[in-house]
Amino acid sequence: MREIDHYIDGSTYTSGDRSSDVFDPNQGSVQAKVRLGTAADLQKAIDAANAALPGWAATNPQRRARVMFKFKELVEANMQSLAELLASEHGKVVADAKGDVQRGLEVIEFACSIPQALKGEYTVGAGPGIDVYSMRQPLGIGAGITPFNFPAMIPMWMFGMAIACGNAFILKPSERDPSVPVRLAELMKEAGLPDGILNVVHGDKEMVDAILDHEDIKAVSFVGSSDIAQYIYSRGTANGKRVQAFGGAKNHGIVLPDADLDQVVNDLTGAAFGSAGERCMALPVVVPVGDDTADALRAKLLPAIDALRVGISTDAEAHYGPVVSAAHRARIEQYIQMGVDEGAELVVDGRGFKLQGHEEGFFIGPTLFDHVKPTMKSYQDEIFGPVLQIVRAKDFEEAVRLPSQHEYGNGVAIFTRNGHAAREFTARVNVGMVGINVPIPVPVSYHSFGGWKRSGFGDIGQYGMEGMRFWTKNKVVTQRWPDGSAAGDHREAFIIPTMG
Ligand code: NAD
Repeated sequence: MREIDHYIDGSTYTSGDRSSDVFDPNQGSVQAKVRLGTAADLQKAIDAANAALPGWAATNPQRRARVMFKFKELVEANMQSLAELLASEHGKVVADAKGDVQRGLEVIEFACSIPQALKGEYTVGAGPGIDVYSMRQPLGIGAGITPFNFPAMIPMWMFGMAIACGNAFILKPSERDPSVPVRLAELMKEAGLPDGILNVVHGDKEMVDAILDHEDIKAVSFVGSSDIAQYIYSRGTANGKRVQAFGGAKNHGIVLPDADLDQVVNDLTGAAFGSAGERCMALPVVVPVGDDTADALRAKLLPAIDALRVGISTDAEAHYGPVVSAAHRARIEQYIQMGVDEGAELVVDGRGFKLQGHEEGFFIGPTLFDHVKPTMKSYQDEIFGPVLQIVRAKDFEEAVRLPSQHEYGNGVAIFTRNGHAAREFTARVNVGMVGINVPIPVPVSYHSFGGWKRSGFGDIGQYGMEGMRFWTKNKVVTQRWPDGSAAGDHREAFIIPTMG
């Protein structure tokens, strides 16, 4: 049985006897064991980081950026093998796994411009003979705790920015698909990153708690489910750390009567069922406005869902693959039953789906509900599977209210040809990321990413300039170079300085 070890100080580190199964979701079998680390293993990574940190923080930003340029080249050269490895543990199809790698790489591209991003501000003559300038300095050691659903993209969002800013980094990836994060750390070394600057420690709650409690870790970035995000935020900030913690989601797609329904159906099937619905920016809820829109949309959705091909990750024709584990599939199926019990209309039932030749794989067919109501728990909770729920809104006001009042506030999309309505919706909706005729509005790397309400704890986004700010602290210098002529009455030195 293959064992997946920690990666500390530029090499594999084996320790301890606790481990967790890593499945092959296509076959439904265990393909590897990942080691579950302890506080002592974390200390080993901290020691390596502390030893390497002064040199890296003092390396000029241009040289740090060169490591990112080289890393980008290496990831591109290894794209196929990374995507296959990722797909084999996660279950998403290989083409989608490449997208996972690519969206992370786009943040690395932004990190290549770190000399520009880190430039401070300068005011000449803020007062008589006085200049004021600011500089961004690294925090020291940062940590990232990441979810299973984007095992390449989300680690790169975090370590790309943190390391380019001059920090050392400790990554605790999901124990469900831990191989790609280790591979990325190896490629960072190959790109010229000094040993100890990027360490990967595996584990579960025990390791996470050790991270949250370690005083040398100055900042923690987390992405995962909301209850854990809230826990991470509370415990990390109580320990004096800077924390950003992104949580779950239940994104709505609003369809106004004037929308191009063929386009909507194309976008919606991909956004609801792609990656088996295991995306925090998936669109699992569609809100057609008016019954006519709802009926027309439903009629077009049915053949589109019927045409979906569920297959193994390496099947180039498959739209989506298995979900990550048998336990997760069981949870999704329970939510489908809950929807039925709550009185929603189950239009297409994906339960019990078996793929011929892969009967033990964690597959689940596409599922569609209509007449879902906001009072239903199956609407309020995140299902995180290939389940699309139609919630019919009577008018525009209700369509704005639904996502605004939902406890999650990650993403939302509106489909319309009416610019005024889209603008009004965008201004009023209480959600962090909005798509206008764009189903999955994950912002590009030079903007920033972050949901609202229970989708995001903390007040600063991932990547872009927000990421740079998260991983650095600002120092502001007020300077004066006196000419040596000061004399006489110094009483004004006792008055709070003003520039007046
Ligand atoms: P998860 O919360 O189970 O795990 C995330 C991380 O937390 C993992 O590294 C895991 O080891 C750790 N963890 C799990 N239980 C813990 C505990 N009790 N104490 C401390 N740490 C613990 O999430 P997941 O199932 O891996 O990922 C799916 C979730 O992530 C979904 O809710 C999805 O919406 C969310 N997500 C959010 C975003 C976003 O940007 N908002 C992006 C991707 C995924």
